[in-house]
Amino acid sequence: MLENYIAYLMVLDEKLNRFFNEQKPYIFCRPGCSKCCRNAIYPYSRIELEYLKTGFNRLPYNIKEQIRQNIEKTINDKKNFKGEKFTYVCPFLVNDMCSVYNQRGIICRTFGLMQIYPKGGQDIPFCVELGLNYSNVYDPEKNIISKEMFKTLGVKEEPNAYNIAYDFLTDADFGKGFGFEFGEVKPLIDWFID
Ligand code: SF4
Ligand code: SF4
Repeated sequence: MLENYIAYLMVLDEKLNRFFNEQKPYIFCRPGCSKCCRNAIYPYSRIELEYLKTGFNRLPYNIKEQIRQNIEKTINDKKNFKGEKFTYVCPFLVNDMCSVYNQRGIICRTFGLMQIYPKGGQDIPFCVELGLNYSNVYDPEKNIISKEMFKTLGVKEEPNAYNIAYDFLTDADFGKGFGFEFGEVKPLIDWFID
């Protein structure tokens, strides 16, 4: 099953790499920029979790310990949380780097691109507000990607949004086609709560 999932990931990565390359003039992701791993839910299916664990198992003892402590802290934070939507720093983020980068989940692979919704509308990455992705074509007053700003940049590739919704990329049919099942989906931290 895991081998089949990895085969799917290779195809998905090829597609996402193409999107990131097309959008290069608008992408300001750099190693050490971990803001997208600091305040989210991170949906993970069972098979994504299994693959993530293979990355965890290869880590040095001290990093594993750090992650175990992060998980414990996040679980406690969640237990004490009184609001509606619990967001958190991903426990696998260590020293501002993803400790399981090659085995990270599907949602993590899409961080930073603009997303289009099949029924209309698009989502600009939150870090646009921090002067990062797409900020060179973003009009904060209108909360839109500005055609005028694009024209002044003088680049060929237009800012584009893609159908990269988590639900779409983890559609059961993709799994069937590659001979695996995604399985249950829940927030990453919930997989570690007994
Ligand atoms: S698994 Fe890695 S890329 Fe994904 S949220 Fe956690 S630290 Fe970030
Ligand atoms: S998506 Fe945004 S926050 Fe995440 S690494 Fe890229 S620039 Fe940083």
